[in-house]
Amino acid sequence: MKILLLGKNGQVGWELQRALAPLGTLVSLGRKNPNGICGDLTKLDDLRATIRDVKPTVIVNAAAYTAVDRAEEDRDLANLINAEAPALLAEEAQAQAALLVHYSTDYIFDGSGNRPWREQDLAAPINYYGATKLAGESAIRSTGCRHLIFRTSWVYAARGSNFLGTMTKLIEERDSLKVIDDQVGAPTGAELIADVTAIALRQTQQDSELAGLFNLVATGETSWHGYAQFVADCLQRQNVPIQATPDRIEPVPTTAWPTPAKRPLNSRLDSTKLENSLKLQLPAWQTGVERSLAERRKFTKPQD
Ligand code: NDP
Repeated sequence: MKILLLGKNGQVGWELQRALAPLGTLVSLGRKNPNGICGDLTKLDDLRATIRDVKPTVIVNAAAYTAVDRAEEDRDLANLINAEAPALLAEEAQAQAALLVHYSTDYIFDGSGNRPWREQDLAAPINYYGATKLAGESAIRSTGCRHLIFRTSWVYAARGSNFLGTMTKLIEERDSLKVIDDQVGAPTGAELIADVTAIALRQTQQDSELAGLFNLVATGETSWHGYAQFVADCLQRQNVPIQATPDRIEPVPTTAWPTPAKRPLNSRLDSTKLENSLKLQLPAWQTGVERSLAERRKFTKPQD
């Protein structure tokens, strides 16, 4: 396998560098790279030339415009990165008979109801980021290239800015917090997404039919409020001095925190199709969160 990884410095991209390395030759690109090689998804001609030059058998696109609120204003750039660039990647994958791996989001749904969304459910994004991600998915599917699209949600990692990092800091520093309790989903670790991607890629070598759209989230569900309380509880159990104990984290509705981009209330995704196709069992969301907190502590407090 010759893998071209785009977006190597993002939460998922960083973990993919680790998880994909044993699968073959890995060419990992960030937005800026030496020697005129292009990993910038806004430079479509240069990106095309790079793909033709590298000649990958697999293209993994972990790059995206992920600033959900900013996307409401910054529409052209969000669309270029999330929709037009993936379309180009798909065209090139089709032309070179390469497999394209891409990531999408529960934000392509409108968040209605309380049943976990399945792959075939009707997409109806309620913010511009979601609309661009849906356009990216559609463009990939319409080229006919062999692809794996993984829809995920509430991504966290030790690296990058995310709810887990922000909450950990606030719980340590503030004596009380208000956190939204009417948006429900599953926190999903970048490590898990990368590991499952590697498992899927291995399986594509034995199973030429393996392709398509798959939900990929940790199991179980919680609200942002339940997530924050779990983080406070873990930190307490790990003997981290905190200010905002779980009982001092107050639930508030989404309407208490107006944001430029609307958020879906129901972010639940059903990963049954992926579990059956890859014959694996996705772990509970709490497992990865607790581990990530423990590792964060290990690396920030080396004397322990
Ligand atoms: P991050 O925001 O952590 O990483 C995105 C990466 O894309 C960054 O490394 C960024 O580069 C890169 N990027 C941005 N613009 C460009 C560009 N013009 N050219 C090349 N690279 C660019 O995202 P995640 O790792 O969290 O997300 C991975 C995937 O998962 C994305 O497809 C995202 O839509 C999807 N997803 C994410 C969720 C989340 O909660 N984060 C939820 C659901 C789905 P730089 O480091 O230089 O800024």
